[in-house]
Amino acid sequence: MAHSPVIRQLDETVINRIAAGEVVERPASAVKELVENAIDAGARRVDIAISDGGKGLIRVTDDGCGIPAADLPLALARHATSKIDGSDLLDIRSFGFRGEALASLGAVGRLTVTSRARGAGEAAQVSVTGGVMGAVTPAALTRGTVVELRDLFYATPARLKFMRTDRAEGQAIGDVVKRLALAEPSVGFTLRDVTGDGEGRVSFRADPETGDLFHALRGRVGRVLGSDFVENAIPLDADREGLRLTGLAALPTYSRGSAVAQYLFVNGRPVHDRLLIGALRAAYMDVLSRDRHPAAVLFIDCDPQLVDVNVHPAKAEVRFRERGTARGLIVSGLRHALAEAGHRASSTVAT
Ligand code: ADP
Ligand code: MG
Repeated sequence: MAHSPVIRQLDETVINRIAAGEVVERPASAVKELVENAIDAGARRVDIAISDGGKGLIRVTDDGCGIPAADLPLALARHATSKIDGSDLLDIRSFGFRGEALASLGAVGRLTVTSRARGAGEAAQVSVTGGVMGAVTPAALTRGTVVELRDLFYATPARLKFMRTDRAEGQAIGDVVKRLALAEPSVGFTLRDVTGDGEGRVSFRADPETGDLFHALRGRVGRVLGSDFVENAIPLDADREGLRLTGLAALPTYSRGSAVAQYLFVNGRPVHDRLLIGALRAAYMDVLSRDRHPAAVLFIDCDPQLVDVNVHPAKAEVRFRERGTARGLIVSGLRHALAEAGHRASSTVAT
């Protein structure tokens, strides 16, 4: 008879590496986590530099609240966060709350965090390589935080093999930055590709708050997605049972051959959610042929209690308490707006 296999408690580094597989799928996921941290820190400006599709370098610089030197080791530890106290997982207003990103990144790349907490006399720095943390040392930085991640996935060669070309990974990073720029119009962003001599650069400047929703929306959407999109889009503003839908939806004539131009946000969080994407498709069903995809920027806002964001480690999916309400709001809100714009659906389907 075979012996029972030995059950072992895995060590911290291995645990972090396993968790990192879910949180950091590719360089764009690392950029997403770091930029979200900057926004959570109240940054007004976020500068991102990448090289080699993010595999060589990702550096995110912000002017947010910073991290006190004494807290740096904790910030890099797993399940350590300043954003929730755990008492109400349905009342989450920050991007982060799982306390996993920095620990995961430190397990699969060479991570250095330099930060100066507001009011602190000097900055401090700490590095983690392959899950092993060095000492906290004094550093030079006037404000905010700089997180530098080099050689992503060097510690997990199997994952590295799954990376696509630098160009494709760089595009995915650009897409993440676009989504977060759409979500945060009052924050300025720059994204620089410093591979070799440094070519590409995009920047979305911070928009002044005007109080006029559609003016602001058109401004930022125009700068991020192009004025073409805005000129071919109609404004949305509808609500249903505590959920509000706002955004810009492109006319059917401005549809795309793929689903690339669909930007969905729930309480300011960019999501890739099947329920919402399905509702978007359904709304255009009668005015768009099957091989075309609607282009739209949709924001759904509601009391955080009505939606669970703790569904997926990368927080890309959400779960509405009333799924039917969310779907119905999108379908009817969009159909109504399209009909007003003269693209009345050939048949009226009850929602
Ligand atoms: P989470 O965002 O879920 O809290 P992270 O691992 O991403 O987990 O970050 C851990 C903690 O480190 C955060 O809760 C925050 O206190 C601190 N932190 C991370 N990045 C920044 C930043 N750019 N500015 C200020 N604090 C930060
Ligand atoms: Mg985070």
